[in-house]
Amino acid sequence: MSEVITTDVAIIGAGPVGLFAVFEAGMLGMKAVVIDALDALGGQCTALYPEKPIYDIPGHPAIDGQGLIGQLEIQAAPFAPYYLLDQQVTHLGTQEAGFRLRTSKGAVVEARAVIVAAGCGAFGPNRPPLDGLEAYEEAKTVQYLVRRREDYRDKKIVIAGGGDSAVDWALSLVEVAESVSLVHRRPKFRAAPESLRKLDDLAKAGAVDLVVPYQLDGLEGDGGILNGVRVATLDGQKRVIPADVLLPFYGLAMTLGPIADWGLGLDHNHIAVEQRNSATSVPGIFAIGDIATYPGKLKLILSGFAEAAAAAHAIHPLVFPDKVLHFEYSTTRGVPTAAQ
Ligand code: FAD
Repeated sequence: MSEVITTDVAIIGAGPVGLFAVFEAGMLGMKAVVIDALDALGGQCTALYPEKPIYDIPGHPAIDGQGLIGQLEIQAAPFAPYYLLDQQVTHLGTQEAGFRLRTSKGAVVEARAVIVAAGCGAFGPNRPPLDGLEAYEEAKTVQYLVRRREDYRDKKIVIAGGGDSAVDWALSLVEVAESVSLVHRRPKFRAAPESLRKLDDLAKAGAVDLVVPYQLDGLEGDGGILNGVRVATLDGQKRVIPADVLLPFYGLAMTLGPIADWGLGLDHNHIAVEQRNSATSVPGIFAIGDIATYPGKLKLILSGFAEAAAAAHAIHPLVFPDKVLHFEYSTTRGVPTAAQ
């Protein structure tokens, strides 16, 4: 039988907002277990833009995705969160004194309250329909995320896509890669004007090969080792670009996954909450961050941080029904020193 982990608050999602909820719950004396389907902390920040700077985190004029997550992890550490990573929460049910969650790896968590901080739900890349793709994905010669730029040093990179991610990574990887080719089915890219200007300069200098208007047609290699990417025009002209790695950036497919089955009031694939405290339609379950919606919602990390604070205050009476919560500033209360 699987171990049962008992806690005050179960937080589904270890993105920036879920991590900050650990701190907010901790400041009110509540313990948290955090569960994430990904094998690392950080949600979109780590998975999608670890090295890109974010400019609208209060107090940080610029901080990159991974840097922000590192700081949030340090901020949460004094409250000793228990992380269950690389496993999706598949079941959420009520029981006498709260909730029982089960994960895809069989872990069971019992909690007095639940915070759903699941971002866009289960997210995964839109994959190109190419024969034999799985073998290349397994060998990591086709990848949908760039975690560390250094991993691409001296490699022949083919990037596919026409949006910000494709353009920004072409601009970034050109500094380390042996070659960068950018494949797009239209001659024009959709990205920030400054990025487009830089791309144009690099293309004119021969540093980036703009393969337009072409689309992906096939992968050439053996046993997952990639030698080349075949591309074709709409009228069927083909060519092969030598490649060690293909990075398709065709956006994300987002589905709520199991969350859609938990009886929470939904609004266009988001969880409808009360703005004042992030309460969902099910008492004891709260939703914060990108997954939560209410009129006027701004999908920003800083909105999610405020929602985490409001949810933690709303949960306090559920965990401590006999205690009156006196509002205190962090400067008055201080934080435990365990992680210092
Ligand atoms: P997420 O970061 O999406 O994390 C949710 C986590 O929940 C994921 O790790 C997921 O695996 C997990 N999860 C989902 N379902 C389950 C389940 N059933 N079981 C277990 N785990 C589950 N925002 C800004 O404020 N400023 C910016 O400059 C900015 N720039 C951005 C640039 C890019 C390229 C992108 C893609 C986004 C940007 N954002 C920016 C948006 C920002 O990243 C999101 O608002 C933020 O990540 C939302 O945080 P979150 O914790 O709510 O969700």
